[in-house]
Amino acid sequence: MIGGGLAGLAAGVALAESGWRVRLFEQRPFLGGRATSYVLPDGQHVDNCQHVTLGCCTNLEDFYGRIGAAGKITFFDRLLFLDPQGRRGEMQAGRLPAPFHLTWSFAAFAPLTLPDKLSIARAMLDILRTKGKPSDLQENGGISMLEWLRRRRQTKGAIERFWRVVLVSALDEELARTDARFGIDVFWKAFLSNSTGYRMGVPAVPLANLYDGCKSEIERRGGEVVLRTPVRGLKIENGEFAGLRFDEGREETADAYVFAVPHTALGELLPQSIKQSDAALANLDKINVAPITGVHLWFDRQVMTDPFLTLLDTTTQWIFNKSALYADSNGKEKGSPEGQYLQLVISASYDLLQKPRQEIIDLCLGELREALPAVRDAELVKATVIKEAAATFSPEPGVHRWRPRQQTSVPRLFLAGDWTDTGWPATMEGAVRSGYLAAEALLRSAGTPRRLLQPDLEPDGFIAMWLGRQSAATGS
Ligand SMILES: Cc1cc2nc3c(=O)[nH]c(=O)nc-3n(C[C@H](O)[C@H](O)[C@H](O)COP(=O)(O)OP(=O)(O)OC[C@H]3O[C@@H](n4cnc5c(N)ncnc54)[C@H](O)[C@@H]3O)c2cc1C
Repeated sequence: MIGGGLAGLAAGVALAESGWRVRLFEQRPFLGGRATSYVLPDGQHVDNCQHVTLGCCTNLEDFYGRIGAAGKITFFDRLLFLDPQGRRGEMQAGRLPAPFHLTWSFAAFAPLTLPDKLSIARAMLDILRTKGKPSDLQENGGISMLEWLRRRRQTKGAIERFWRVVLVSALDEELARTDARFGIDVFWKAFLSNSTGYRMGVPAVPLANLYDGCKSEIERRGGEVVLRTPVRGLKIENGEFAGLRFDEGREETADAYVFAVPHTALGELLPQSIKQSDAALANLDKINVAPITGVHLWFDRQVMTDPFLTLLDTTTQWIFNKSALYADSNGKEKGSPEGQYLQLVISASYDLLQKPRQEIIDLCLGELREALPAVRDAELVKATVIKEAAATFSPEPGVHRWRPRQQTSVPRLFLAGDWTDTGWPATMEGAVRSGYLAAEALLRSAGTPRRLLQPDLEPDGFIAMWLGRQSAATGS
């Protein structure tokens, strides 16, 4: 196993449980890849960036369960939004069954006008009617989400204050550069087909603490997790892939290899001969990347009471109240009893990449003073900005053509990573799915097939009845 991010960990743990002796090589001194956390010199834990999951992420939930981390995620069923005029909106399931569970909170959503809501409702009906598969999604390899919305005559307010807000944070890309398939899928899986898919799960511990159970799970079954050990290349013998190369000329061989590194890193590791032997490996450089910026602010006092908040019409997209999210049962942030720590998230943050860090802090602080009046009197004790230029692969129209499957045509070489072909965008769920799919492919090729991939969340409410009736009518 090469790579100790979620994809490598999911594959590693699943294979160890299936009786394989797993050796996992990770170049960094800690596990978790992009979904991890660091400790600053002053002892403060900082997530690489806030990571959240949704109720519809069934494989991530399964993985957290396997490694004993499920209890470290807090689920929230109320999502809060705030516009610059101070109007609040919320999404929270009411008593009505799916797909109408969010209807009341949507009807009362103050930042949207009636024409905005009517246009959104029309588009939702189209997604429902087609069971999340509107026919124009297949055109010319894919249309952009913006184009899909324009065809449904969405108002400017609906696009900016609803579709853009949900999808840019879910998919890390601008609507004009997002394949509509991914956008529609978010709404079908998380918001329409069942009443719990939209619930947001937020880690109650620094991200790296989630993976405590992975090393022990692999080692308990005879394997090994080897940190600070970058794989430097592939060993080729008689034109065939024969092992791994490390620093100082060291080499390792194994019965099978799962590369769970980012596609950009894999592109550099694979020799030309291997890339040419499998068309799916020749196109890795066609997969583009998109940035996310995290802004971490520590105040001398409490400035926010909600656990998180989405801002509308601002550069800042999400504010996470880390002190509250990390709070122990006494309501105090573990290890940091005073002040308040907020983390802001800005997805698809292309405009910020070139900006100096202080300028970004000033910009966000200005927006916070408007959104959270208590910030005006508070002192900013400390701030840090983490720019991830290659946070995720860009879900551009047609990107599915370049995503390789987990089983390659090179004997004993398997792939995992959020960028491989899972049908999902670059998310923790996508990464875990890819790991399970890689492990399934490996077990299949070894003649010991095992099902690891978890089913999607079951449709519920009227959707379940409707789909049940449809499949009864078609006899499926
Ligand atoms: C800022 C940010 C915010 C995000 N927010 C969310 C969110 O809220 N929700 C969500 O679901 N997803 C989010 N994501 C996406 C999520 O983090 C990724 O989809 C997921 O973590 C990818 O996991 P992975 O295992 O595929 O890749 P990675 O996490 O990149 O893991 C690859 C691993 O391989 C290692 N490696 C690379 N080269 C070598 C080598 N030569 N030898 C040995 N090891 C090597 C790397 O060090 C790394 O540990 C976010 C990502 C970022 C960056």
